[in-house]
Amino acid sequence: MTLEAFGWPAPRWSGVTTTVAISVFGVFGAGVTGHPGVAAQGLPELTVSLVTRAMQPGEVVRVDVRCACGRVAPRASALDRDIPLALSPDGTRWQGLIGIDLDVAPGEYFLLVSAPHLRPPPAHQMSLRVEPKLFRTRTLTVAPEYVDPPAPVVDRIVREAARLNGIYRTSTPRVWDRPFVPPLATQASANFGSRSVFNGQPRSPHAGIDFGSPTGTVVTAPSAGSVVVADDLYFTGNTVVLDHGAGLYSIFAHFSALAVEEGDLVDVGATLGRVGATGRVTGPHLHWSVRLNGARVDPISLIEATQD
Ligand SMILES: [Zn+2]
Repeated sequence: MTLEAFGWPAPRWSGVTTTVAISVFGVFGAGVTGHPGVAAQGLPELTVSLVTRAMQPGEVVRVDVRCACGRVAPRASALDRDIPLALSPDGTRWQGLIGIDLDVAPGEYFLLVSAPHLRPPPAHQMSLRVEPKLFRTRTLTVAPEYVDPPAPVVDRIVREAARLNGIYRTSTPRVWDRPFVPPLATQASANFGSRSVFNGQPRSPHAGIDFGSPTGTVVTAPSAGSVVVADDLYFTGNTVVLDHGAGLYSIFAHFSALAVEEGDLVDVGATLGRVGATGRVTGPHLHWSVRLNGARVDPISLIEATQD
């Protein structure tokens, strides 16, 4: 797949970068705009490269920015969102993550990166061409009360959804700086984004992945985070939500037992709980979903995009 540089055909001062991505690609170019000759004069330059396995709905795209920005982060935005940038552990790049929501319409979008604190302020615009993706449809049979919840339960569902949406809209400082790892040794089923039909009725897409595993299997944190939910919720049963910072959240569902409490800070590998079958399930498994600045993205894509 090719991602095209947008706009300014200015090879003399372009910071053209090629990134070898994990599985498919990652090719980028385009350079400093608006100030011809900036690099030629040895003044601030800014280069941007992207890492992703695919530019499609449900994918995570890592943005790496190199610039002589000092300790001040450059700014980035894409898909109508600000993308927080944090310095990489080795101090060589500023990094951020773009989430392409699973319902984003295919087409051309733009990534904007700038360093307004520099003089002259470099800026960089890049095309993000989101290709279509076909998601499967899955048909499941669950207990009837999980498809047409009884009236007394509806209030609870609305309350829980509002709580979660309030959390996902919050962005706290980033607390992780290492690649994400799977929470279980089991292979996850490739069912992210599948359209779900429960008991014959279409429901919202499956915004996560499932690890089929026996009840009691230990589930560990894929990265550092703070526990913002450790509670029994209607659809997801015993649930843990980790806030990784910078608008990134992990949601783990259907635990038989929880090992953390709200307010805990956990590091990668910490035990979160044990696999179970609580909530709307057909059997014991771990469900892991990820919200990135509100976008519903595939956790496997997050793992791949955060590798060095
Ligand atoms: Zn699931």
